[in-house]
Amino acid sequence: MSLIKLVDVSKYYKSEETVSVGMKRINLEFELGEFVAVTGESGSGKSTLLNVVSGLDGYEEGELYLFNEETSHYTISDWEKYRGTYIGFVFQSYNIIDSYTVYQNVLLALEVQGYDPKKRKERALELIEQVGLTSHKNHKASKLSGGQKQRTVIARALAKDCPIIVADEPTGNLDSASGEQIIKLLHDISKNKLVIVVTHDYDQVQQFATRKIKMHDGEVVEDKKIKAYEKIDLIEPKKAKNLSFLTMLRFATRNLLSQPKKLIFLLLMQIIVIGAFTFAYSDRISQVREAGLSQSSYYNNVPRTRLLIEKRDGTAFTDDELEDIKDHPNINYVHKNALLFYNSTDLFLYGQDTYYGPYIEATDTHHSIDSSDISGRRPVLENEIIFGSAYMDFEIGETVSLVNSYSNIIIETFVIVGKDKLNREIIYFSDAYLDKEIEPEDLIDYDKYAQIYGMLTNNLNIEIDGSDYYVNRSYNQFQNVDIFIEGEGTRTTLNNQSLTLEFKFYDGYDDINLPLTNLTISVPSIPYEWRQLYIKQSLFDQIMEEQIVNFEDEYMLEEQAMISVSVTGFYSGKRVVDTLDIDTYRVFYPSYISSPLRDFYVFLQGMLAVIFLTLFGLFLYSIVHAVSRNVMNSRKKDFAIYRSIGTNKVTLARLVVLEQIMMSIMGFIIVLIVMRIISEQLYFLRATLEYMELRDYFYLLFIFILFGGWLGLRFNKKVFNQSVIETLSQSKGD
Ligand code: ADP
Ligand code: MG
Repeated sequence: MSLIKLVDVSKYYKSEETVSVGMKRINLEFELGEFVAVTGESGSGKSTLLNVVSGLDGYEEGELYLFNEETSHYTISDWEKYRGTYIGFVFQSYNIIDSYTVYQNVLLALEVQGYDPKKRKERALELIEQVGLTSHKNHKASKLSGGQKQRTVIARALAKDCPIIVADEPTGNLDSASGEQIIKLLHDISKNKLVIVVTHDYDQVQQFATRKIKMHDGEVVEDKKIKAYEKIDLIEPKKAKNLSFLTMLRFATRNLLSQPKKLIFLLLMQIIVIGAFTFAYSDRISQVREAGLSQSSYYNNVPRTRLLIEKRDGTAFTDDELEDIKDHPNINYVHKNALLFYNSTDLFLYGQDTYYGPYIEATDTHHSIDSSDISGRRPVLENEIIFGSAYMDFEIGETVSLVNSYSNIIIETFVIVGKDKLNREIIYFSDAYLDKEIEPEDLIDYDKYAQIYGMLTNNLNIEIDGSDYYVNRSYNQFQNVDIFIEGEGTRTTLNNQSLTLEFKFYDGYDDINLPLTNLTISVPSIPYEWRQLYIKQSLFDQIMEEQIVNFEDEYMLEEQAMISVSVTGFYSGKRVVDTLDIDTYRVFYPSYISSPLRDFYVFLQGMLAVIFLTLFGLFLYSIVHAVSRNVMNSRKKDFAIYRSIGTNKVTLARLVVLEQIMMSIMGFIIVLIVMRIISEQLYFLRATLEYMELRDYFYLLFIFILFGGWLGLRFNKKVFNQSVIETLSQSKGD
């Protein structure tokens, strides 16, 4: 059976203006066992013949039969299969992957054909031994001599276990001694194969060749049998399998690692780009999420890590309920005495000899401060706190008083055991303090008293004949008069005359649930439009007392009617609201007050962020593309070699994409690690990253995988815009 048969095959090279003849009306037959020498001067068509026969190049006229089958209907993938299964290539330009070692080059061929993984290594070493390179097996191909490179190529061709080996001037770049060795090697391996060697130095092959073909001007001018050869039947070689994902992963890893300099360069670029994008993303997302936040003006000092929970029926929390709440995935700490946190508005911290102190931004549990931000230690005892101020210098060990500025009541005395390095003016309490059992009266003493006091002082309305009027309150300097109202240009004294006047506590926020009831006292008529209400100290105190009793009735009937929980992460608080604020519990999240207008604003911000990030991402990646294009170009040859040993285009295209994706993932991991380290030092970065949720990192990963894939696809266009032979012949000069 003839393996290859050409009948009147012609091949022309057409360029825009000229048509040159590669070969004309060739009629040849090749069989297994032959060692064919093709000679002829340069330009006579030797390479053309070889390329057509090996399926690297097409032809215009005639018919090429492979195993007695016509090939005119062959598709690209048929040719790929033919090359991959039957042909081993040896070129003058050592088609070898320079960045691989000898061993890796040979192994590649075994992997591509799906050789038994367990025997792969052994087989590769065997082949390397066969070509006499055992001592060089771990050398990089780029470091080898020409002869050694060519042997590696031959070992690789053998690894494929293919019946046909084509060699185009395999000794062309070698000195005559190594040239002879290579020819001898080709002969040694040719026993059960068809070997076609193109050479212009016929003497070199003379003693081995079984047949000599001489070409001239694209035509065969001589075809002579020189020696008898053993005829062999074709044993069907194993078809190259499609590469498994795992193998591809291994290839991609090897490709990346085999060129460390390129890897570092490309990775660095990726890191810069991924870092920039990740930062831009977290910056935008923090803006969007910040837009969703609207701090309740009633609880304006409660940090966003804290929520207040009460039961809708007003009863106390049972131990089981507390356990359940503790087990909520977003809640990391439960403080039973929420009212300690209730409202830190108008809290000041005084040092022992100071009469003024910094305004307290918030009160919080020490669990919400990072250890790295503390100098000193965490509070353990009831009266220990962490504190840091940008305006006042408090020392560790100093005793300070927490004071309510409305009422001037000293709430508690503390010792500063740790300082917040960031001076955020937040008091961090110990668990002991937050968990201690407090009598409701104690709470009234400072917290509620201060609130009621504040309201009575600053938010006083009087209802007269169904209309509300706002008044300022002052103490009455005329001690014999209970209430005194200053009107427009007139003063009216009201004393024990009959008129109903209601004190209303200004409740302009629909997010709160004011506990205070209205108060009615009797005063005489008010003849003029009033501006200022003066009230006798003793009467005011009496009103206060009544209000506190009202408040107790309303709120203090049960202990632990309200608890406070701490959450970690920016969105956790919102999730607690969404999951707990249903039937049994009412959840106040002071940092998040929703309204349709705000929701729309958040939506707008989100849209803007998406547009910005898309454009920014495209911009960044076009830079990456531009910069790494040349690097990819230089790998064209490697990919052509992959194809010449039987990897199909689709697989290779996937490999390129996979490499890019791996690079993106690696870059992203490095960026995350670096950001983590840097953010320890840079507060603004940490503050930005605090808005990020786990899912955001997954989104980013997805985006980078997408960009990596897209980059890979663009490279593919570049890498595969030429045929294998074009690429290989172009790279001869490399
Ligand atoms: P050889 O290998 O014997 O030196 P080739 O087969 O490379 O000869 O070339 C045969 C003829 O075809 C030459 O005239 C050459 O100029 C022409 N030829 C070869 N490759 C191309 C090509 N890619 N484009 C145009 N002409 C080509
Ligand atoms: Mg040639």
